[in-house]
Amino acid sequence: MLMRIGGNDVEGVDSRWIDVKNPATGELIDKVPAGTDEDVSRAVDSAEAAFAAWAKKAMRDRGMILYHAAQKVRDQHKDLARLLTLEQGKPIRESIDEVRGYANILEFYAGISAHQQGEAIRLAHQGDCIVVHQPIGVCAAIIPWNMPVLIMGWKIGPALLAGNTMVLKPASSTPLTNLRLAQILEEAGLPAGVLNIVTGRGESAGEALVKHPAIRKISFTGDCTTGGKIRQIAGMHKKDVTLELGGSDPMIVMHDAAIDKAVEGALRGRFYNAGQTCTAVKRLYVHEKIATVFTQKLKERVDTLSVGNGLGSRIDMGPMISKEQREKILQAVEETRQKEEGTILSGGSTLKGSAYEQGYFYRPTLVSNVVPGARLVTNEIFGPVLPVMTVPDLDTAIREANTTQYGLGASVWTQDLATVKRVFDEVKAGIIWVNRHLTVPPEVPFGGVKASGNGRENGQHALDGYTQTRTLFLGW
Ligand code: NAD
Repeated sequence: MLMRIGGNDVEGVDSRWIDVKNPATGELIDKVPAGTDEDVSRAVDSAEAAFAAWAKKAMRDRGMILYHAAQKVRDQHKDLARLLTLEQGKPIRESIDEVRGYANILEFYAGISAHQQGEAIRLAHQGDCIVVHQPIGVCAAIIPWNMPVLIMGWKIGPALLAGNTMVLKPASSTPLTNLRLAQILEEAGLPAGVLNIVTGRGESAGEALVKHPAIRKISFTGDCTTGGKIRQIAGMHKKDVTLELGGSDPMIVMHDAAIDKAVEGALRGRFYNAGQTCTAVKRLYVHEKIATVFTQKLKERVDTLSVGNGLGSRIDMGPMISKEQREKILQAVEETRQKEEGTILSGGSTLKGSAYEQGYFYRPTLVSNVVPGARLVTNEIFGPVLPVMTVPDLDTAIREANTTQYGLGASVWTQDLATVKRVFDEVKAGIIWVNRHLTVPPEVPFGGVKASGNGRENGQHALDGYTQTRTLFLGW
């Protein structure tokens, strides 16, 4: 597929291409241009040209375009989900969830398009003020490969509704569904140039976008190290930046938890999307009173998970995105084994057999008795490996939960309100779930604290993040 700039399919300036491969089979699906500085400039020029007319439209009219696009996405959800599974690997059921989640986001922002209001402040003898929220201008969105469709929705929904125009750079391994979704938006009435997609690598197209002088705001989702670089560049150029970065969410299961429900929560929380989710359950702390029975039940469930090509029927977990990502997991588990930092209860290896040879599969892995300070608990493990730790009490669970640099999400599984209050007050995370994990509907502000980032996706908060407040002071 080609880049989408100014309403046209466009080749790259220097005719280099990036292969897009199916991570389940290694087969070439398509290729996209490896965008350069010049391609980024073309896209930014086109977004700048489209800005004035788009910003002038009534918010309700912009919302209607998002709404129509959502209906088209719903009509085509099977084809879109198939494309997503082909390029990303996740089971088709999860791709359908994600595509519908994208439509939900657009519908949510269409639905609140009548609610963006300013303020009037009466100052008696000094005069009166009118405060309005205006779009910022041309914004950049840089997104990762793990949930490319949902994250595209999180960024374009509020940004476009607020009246901004945008240049989006997909991850180089998963650009196809993003490109198709951009076409659908235009088919639904989005004027040419309002959303442009530049394909390419992070260090070239991504960095050029961050540095481009006409970009006023950058919304980035990805790794903490990349986020740090982007923050630095944005700071030098005095640009507004929202960073949605990595996480290592703890899940705390107390002795009064509904055990079977918590087991299912941990299973989905960790192994959904082959463990490649920012808010996956990455550390599990179980109260000692239930640890044996809980771990046994969890192991039984982990052992039933079927791994395979996401297009197959009854597949619970697909491949990882790439050889490099799988290599990181192989190394982390190997280190645990060699340093005797935990006991591998399930998995701990790749899969054998012809169905797995060309793909990047890894077995769902459960590791118990992981020692504090082990890499499995200090680093973000972005794959299907779940470390389980037994804790004697809530104090220990909270202390351990706070030991990493991350602060994206956390969950507590309990029937006790006092426990919930302590976890909410003391565990440092942007979102605390009670008796569930992972769910992030469009209404709910979402984002991290500590090294997990700043700013918020979703809800009114994200919309505010794509506006600037201006004041008219009337001195009578
Ligand atoms: P990544 O940082 O490697 O890449 C993300 C995007 O940034 C890609 O499009 C990439 O091409 C681009 N990029 C890379 N280097 C760049 C540079 N120097 N300048 C500009 N752009 C650059 O991250 P990834 O491996 O694709 O994604 C996985 C990470 O994303 C994990 O840490 C995960 O937790 C995090 N994540 C966070 C959230 C959240 O909402 N907080 C959601 C999903 C994923």
